[in-house]
Parts: sequence; C-alpha cells; structure tokens
Amino acid sequence: MADRLREAVSTYRDRADYLEIRLEQSESTAISFRGDRLDAANRNFSLAGGVRACHKGGWSFVTFNGLDELHDRLEEAISQAKLVGTETTQLAEIEAIEDFVPLELGRDPRGISLAEKRDLVERYNQLLLAYDPRIQTTSSSYRDRFGVTYFVNSAGTCIAQERLDISGGFGAIARGEGGLVRQGYESVHSRSDYNAFVDLEDRVRSAAERAIRQLEAKSVKGGQYTVVLDPYLAGVFIHEAFGHLSEADFVYENPRMQELLQLGKAVAIEQLNVVDDATLNGLPGSLKYDDEGVRAQRKYLIKNGVLTQRLHNRETAGKMNEAPTGNARALSASYPPLVRMTNTAIEPGDRSFAETIADIDEGVYAVRMIGGQTNGEMFTFAAAEGYMIRDGQIAEPVSDVTLTGNVFQTLTDIEAIGNDSVYTNGGCGKGGQSPLPVSVGGPHVRIKDVVVGGR
Ligand SMILES: [Zn+2]
Repeated sequence: MADRLREAVSTYRDRADYLEIRLEQSESTAISFRGDRLDAANRNFSLAGGVRACHKGGWSFVTFNGLDELHDRLEEAISQAKLVGTETTQLAEIEAIEDFVPLELGRDPRGISLAEKRDLVERYNQLLLAYDPRIQTTSSSYRDRFGVTYFVNSAGTCIAQERLDISGGFGAIARGEGGLVRQGYESVHSRSDYNAFVDLEDRVRSAAERAIRQLEAKSVKGGQYTVVLDPYLAGVFIHEAFGHLSEADFVYENPRMQELLQLGKAVAIEQLNVVDDATLNGLPGSLKYDDEGVRAQRKYLIKNGVLTQRLHNRETAGKMNEAPTGNARALSASYPPLVRMTNTAIEPGDRSFAETIADIDEGVYAVRMIGGQTNGEMFTFAAAEGYMIRDGQIAEPVSDVTLTGNVFQTLTDIEAIGNDSVYTNGGCGKGGQSPLPVSVGGPHVRIKDVVVGGR
C-alpha cells in the first residue's frame, strides 16, 4: 500500500510546491442504547483518504474512497491549490521519515462478537435504569475503532501508524419535583485493551448516583468565592480556556491574541506549568507522528508562569518562524489536519487536598464539567457537581455551579496547585472535526475571587 501511494506522489511531485496523501483502512463497532431501547449495533469497514496540495501558499483538500480514484484526485487537488495560491508556500522544514508504528495490543476487541459487546452495554445500561425510580432516561454507548493510516508526502516521508480507540460513555438523566432535571455522566477510554470496558459496574452506577445527588442538592448562592477545581475540571479549564488560545492558527489570524500571547510573557503565577504532551503512553491524545508526519513532542506551553511555546502545524511554524511541534491532527484521513491539542495538562504542584482547602472559610469545590463555552479570553463552565467548603472542610453538595471569568485573570489568581494529577479522556471539537480524542489532566487547583453563578 505504502509503495502505491509513494509512486502516486512521486508522479505528481513536480506539479505543486507540496503534496501529501493520507489513507486509512479501518474497522469499527458502534453500539448504543437510549433508555431501554437499542439505538444502534453495527460494524463498519472502510477505506478512505484525502489528498492535500499546497501551491504558492494556497491549500486544497480532496477526499477519495477507493484507490482507483487516486490519480484523478491528485490532479484535482493540484489544480485547486493553483487556483487559490497567490503568495509563497512557507512550511517549517522537517526531516523525511520512514517508519511503521505498530499497535501495542492487550485484549483485542476485534476478536469479540458484536453480540457479546451489545450484551455488556445493555447490562450497564440496565444498571443505570434500575438505580433509582427518578432516573428518567439513559444513554449508554460503546465504540471501538482500529485503523492503519498511511501518510506519504512529496518531501520523502512515508509513515504507517496503527491505532486503536475503545471508548464507552454512560449518561443518566434524573427528573425530580417541579420538573427539575439533572444529569450524570461517566466515560472510559483505552488505546489497547478491551478489558478496560469490562467490570465497570461501579463506575457506570456512579453516573446515576451523581444525577440523583445533584437532584437533591440545593442551588449554590451566586457570588464571588475561592474555588477549588477537581483534577478533571482543572484539565478541562486548561484545555478549553487556555489550550485553544495556544493553537497557532488562531493566534496567527488574531492581532489581539498575538499581543496577549507573546512568547516570553508572564501570564500566570510562577508555580504554574502547562504541558501538551503527545509522548505519554496510551492516552487518547498520544501519538508518535502527527498527521503531517512531524514527530510528536512534549511541549511546555507555560513554564514557571511564562508563555514558552505554542502549538503548530508546519505552516504556522513556518510563517511565525517557530519550531514545528507535531500538532497537526485530523479526525480521520477524510479530513484535513488542523492545529490541535493532544494530552494537555497542568503539572502537579506541592499541596495536598487537605492543605488546599484548610484555610477556606466559605468556598466552592467544583467537580467535573457538563457544559461550557469560551469566547476569546472569557469562559463559562458548568460544573457537573459542586460542594460548599466550610471552615476548611467539604460540606453540603450544591447544584448549578457555573464558573465565569477571564482566562488571564484566572491564571494569575491561582492560589494553590495540588500534588495529585489525573488524566481524563475527552473529545475536542474544532472546525467541524469532533470528537477528536484528547485527554485533559491536572491536579486540584485553588483559585481566588471566581464568579460563581447560581440559580
Ligand atoms: Zn477542545
């Protein structure tokens, strides 16, 4: 396969500044229940790919579904790129790579029948439905996807990478008095092993448990509080509120952000370190090469409170004269790569959880996230759960905990960084490519003067 793609690229190489083919052969399973009804249970095999060309700075992207179309699509991509290219092509230099990246496999989901997987999802789903009469509906899903992606470009790179993603999601919706609705959610992800989806009874039930607990909790009283984020929410915060701003395609197009995000500028308290690390083993955002054939890396976005690096594809690195970082990622070979995060995290600090909350007279402990939005520097997150902190102790549960603020203000209002750290799987959306597997990580993080909205 690689040889056929290489031959095709070399045939057309002289006709554009840059040319690449990505092709993915995949097999996947998807099962989902909604309430007590089976929504879907299917297996799918596909071969699909895309050709990307760049000429005089103009890009094109064309998809294909069979190798017989390949030459026509190459022609098409080259002529489209020539139509839009009016400047110069600026791609950061990288070395040509030839490599095969095999899967590290535990229990292979491809050897397990659709019926066995469906029965397990159904059993989990029944646990949610049976948890409490106030559970009104559920959504339970399982998905696995194995793919091998070939990447060949006109600069001599030829890489084949195998990848497996196994994921499960469990949601419960509870309805209480006066039509009040609360939800709870739990998810799992593995890059190698079906067994990560087995024996999840307690974790599945915890989704229903959280929905019911929120139903019974009183709404938080709105105001400014010292807030402690749990590791999940701290990770989501750093991904959503800060990580997306570090994506160089966004910075490049935005003069205000270029000013705010000058490398070398202090943007946070000195103890804060933020990484985007694709080299960690077995997490959703882990990879050896990105979708432009650039070797993946561990990068410090913030080091000792100072902005040190941002996330690049080859073009943004070339145009901004910075080093490429291996952050060009596509949802599949049928999409063009965009600048994306991988595993993004706040590095742990030195405080225990007890120390972190010990001197808070009245504060809010915000746990997980169920929704949120960002707009430039501003963010709003809805915590999935909340608890009051009173006299240095976790007190009663509260609901409707939404946190609003300016990301740069918040980064300097951090008061303590926990010595714990957890990576949680997530799905990132950008440019219509969602959910891209990523993870978010962090310790407990304490922030002063956060605006907490209640009901
Ligand atoms: Zn995202």
